[in-house]
Amino acid sequence: MVTSVLPITKENIERAKELVTAGEVVAIPTETVYGLGGSAFDDNAVKRIFEVKGRPNDNPLIAHVHADYDLSKIIDYDPPCAKLLRKKFLPGPLTLVYPSTGKVSPYVSCGLNTLAVRVPAHVGAQAFLKAVDIPVVAPSANLSRHVSPTSAAHVYDDFAGKIPLILDGGEAVGGIESTVLDVSGEIPMLLRPGLVTKEEIERALGYEIATMSEPKQGERVKSPGVLYKHYSPRCPTKLFKAEEKATALQACLTEKEKGVTVAVLAEEGARKYFEERGFAVLSLGSTPQEMAASLYARLREAEQSFQLLVAIEPNEQGGVMTGVMNRLRKACTSSDVAH
Ligand code: AMP
Ligand code: MG
Repeated sequence: MVTSVLPITKENIERAKELVTAGEVVAIPTETVYGLGGSAFDDNAVKRIFEVKGRPNDNPLIAHVHADYDLSKIIDYDPPCAKLLRKKFLPGPLTLVYPSTGKVSPYVSCGLNTLAVRVPAHVGAQAFLKAVDIPVVAPSANLSRHVSPTSAAHVYDDFAGKIPLILDGGEAVGGIESTVLDVSGEIPMLLRPGLVTKEEIERALGYEIATMSEPKQGERVKSPGVLYKHYSPRCPTKLFKAEEKATALQACLTEKEKGVTVAVLAEEGARKYFEERGFAVLSLGSTPQEMAASLYARLREAEQSFQLLVAIEPNEQGGVMTGVMNRLRKACTSSDVAH
């Protein structure tokens, strides 16, 4: 199969619409990462997404809809807190998990009676969703466990020859996947941190929300996707805390002596320290937003040119950094958690 990479114009959106309507899978840009999109109503399209990604079949998908889509077609109950959060944050990088009507394919939520829904802010994504006017499931357009894609080129690297079309909407400005918040229970529960922060959600609601705790071995969890090793570059990694710079340097020196090519992944402030000592630095930038936007591109650069990635956690904590740290730690975990 030839994989076309085309700019997200009106004409190419029509082409993508035809493919998705016919049950095909196409890659689409969003403001977080690129997604692998297919009709949420089509069992075969949903199954194809799991297959082409190599995604475990207990990791549910998010349905993406345009801003004017009638949610009552797919969700059974719309709690007041969800209305408030939609008004404040959507379109944007916040996914809400609702009780499902069960109208979408049962493969979308992997047997759960809830449905995760997101309204992306990306103008091209909105235009595409408006054109198809159905919920489109769109997990990140990377092979399962590999680093998420923030450009059409990243998607091409993973799926050339496997999907017919990649709509190119430029670099994803957000850079990490959406915040996932379950609003199907008594108290909203944060399932995955992202660019819409826990602090912002609590400020908007006026009360504290729950956070899903790290699952233990064999435990049944609300959001199976959080269990898996994710976002990993194809080179080995070592992760150090911000205050462990000297230990990280020692590790770099030891590996260099063995002939291993080492890259250091760090915030801009730590660049000089490692560069002056002869190491290549892949800089994440300085602000939490810059670090979110650049993380995945840097991880992909690391695997292409180096044999070892030594990552240093940035200093700042909380807010957007909670999401960045969550991805960075998962990228540098050497084995599956609880699986
Ligand atoms: P991805 O599309 O790869 O960014 O992953 C989607 C994330 O949303 C995963 O962490 C899933 O576990 C989570 N998710 C999707 N649907 C549901 C649902 N119905 N309930 C809880 N979590 C969900
Ligand atoms: Mg993903």
